[in-house]
Amino acid sequence: MEPSPSLPPGVAFMNGPHGTCPTCSVPGRALYSVARVPSTSNVLFHTRAEARAVPMGALELATCDSCGLLWNAAFDEGLVDYRQGYEETQSFSPTFRSWLDATASEIAQEHQLEGKLVVEIGCGKGEFLASLCAASGARGLGIDPSASAGRVDLSSGAGLKFLLEPVGNINPIDDVELIVCRHTLEHIFQIGPFLREIERACSPHTPLLIEVPDLTRVLTEGAFWDLYHEHATYFTLGSLVRWIRSMGRPVQTLERVYSNQNLMLFSDPGRPDDLQLQGESPTEQRRALDQFNQQAKDSMARTNSLLNKIQAQGGTSVLWGAGSKATGLLVTLGVEDQVAAVVDINPDKTGSHIAGTGHRVIAPGELQEIKPDLVLVMNSLYCDEISANLKAMGLAPRIEALA
Ligand SMILES: [Zn+2]
Repeated sequence: MEPSPSLPPGVAFMNGPHGTCPTCSVPGRALYSVARVPSTSNVLFHTRAEARAVPMGALELATCDSCGLLWNAAFDEGLVDYRQGYEETQSFSPTFRSWLDATASEIAQEHQLEGKLVVEIGCGKGEFLASLCAASGARGLGIDPSASAGRVDLSSGAGLKFLLEPVGNINPIDDVELIVCRHTLEHIFQIGPFLREIERACSPHTPLLIEVPDLTRVLTEGAFWDLYHEHATYFTLGSLVRWIRSMGRPVQTLERVYSNQNLMLFSDPGRPDDLQLQGESPTEQRRALDQFNQQAKDSMARTNSLLNKIQAQGGTSVLWGAGSKATGLLVTLGVEDQVAAVVDINPDKTGSHIAGTGHRVIAPGELQEIKPDLVLVMNSLYCDEISANLKAMGLAPRIEALA
C-alpha cells in the first residue's frame, strides 16, 4: 500500500506477508512501519547533539495470524544498548511506586516466600525485587546484565543479591521458590529459547510470574507511541497464554493489571492448568489490529493538529513524562519546535535530552518560567498527580492525556 500523504514521513500502514513467526514458524503478516526510530528509546543524553546522533533502527510491526504473537521484524539486537545511561525506573512517581508496592504485597500474600529464594530475571534496579522481599521475608536474587542496585536496600527481606550476567551464563541455582520476569520478555526476540534458559538456570518445575506490556490497549487506542525498536516481541492476553502453553507450562492466573496497560501471568508446573483462561482468540485479535490501523492514523492527525494549532497561536506546548512514550511520540510524528520541552519528576533526568529529537528534559519547577499553554500527558495514570503539581505552581494550562 502506498503511504498516505497525510502520514508523517517514514510511517506506513500495510497488510502483506512478512517473514515467519518467531515461535510457531507460520508466515507472518506486516502491519505498520516507521523507517527511522531510536534503537533504544528509553536512553537519555547529556547533549542535544548526542541525542540526535543516537543509532537509529526501524520498526516493522508484524503478526502471526495463527498464534497472535506480534514482533518487530526489524529488531536488531546489536543496536540495543542498555548500559549507556539507561534509565528504566519510574519509581520517582508516587503513583508508580505505590502500584509497585501493592503488587509486591499481593504476591507476598499469595505465596509463602518467607526465607525462600525468589529469582528475578531482568530486575533492572531491583526496586520490585526489594519490595517483594520486604513484603514477604524472601531472599532475592536479581539477574540482569544491566542491573544496578544503587538505590535499593540490600537488607530487604532476607537479603538481596545481584548477578550482572545474561541468564544464559548463569549456573543452575538450587531451591528457587519463584521466578519473576517483569518487563523483560518484550525485549527478547527468541522468547522460546530464552524461557528454556531461565528454566535451565532455575529448574523447569519452578513457578513463574510474568509481566509484560499489553498490546491490546495499544491496538484499540492506536497508541503508536508505545511501539519501539527495542521491543522485539509484543503480547496480548491470548498470544501470551497460547505461547506459555506451547512451551508445556500450565497457567493459573492471566489478567490485565496497571489500568489495563500490562499483562500478568502465573504458571506453576505443580498445579493443574486453568483452561478457562484463554484471552483473545486470533480472530478477535485480527479485529483489534484493524482498529489500530484507523485509530493510530486518527491519533497522529489529531496530535499533530493540536501541537500545530498551539504553535500557530504563539503558544507553548510541553510533554510530561520523559520515558519511551515521549520518544515514540516525538520521533514518529517528527516533532521539532512544536514542543518546547519534556517535563519529568525524576531529578536524574533533568537537563538530559530525548533520544532522536534532542528535546530537553526539565524539572516541573521550570514550567513556572515556560508557562505552557498545553501539557500533553504521556500516561493518563499520572493525570491527577500532574494536575496537582501544576496547580501547586499556580499554573492552569490545558492538560491533554494521550492515553
Ligand atoms: Zn505464531
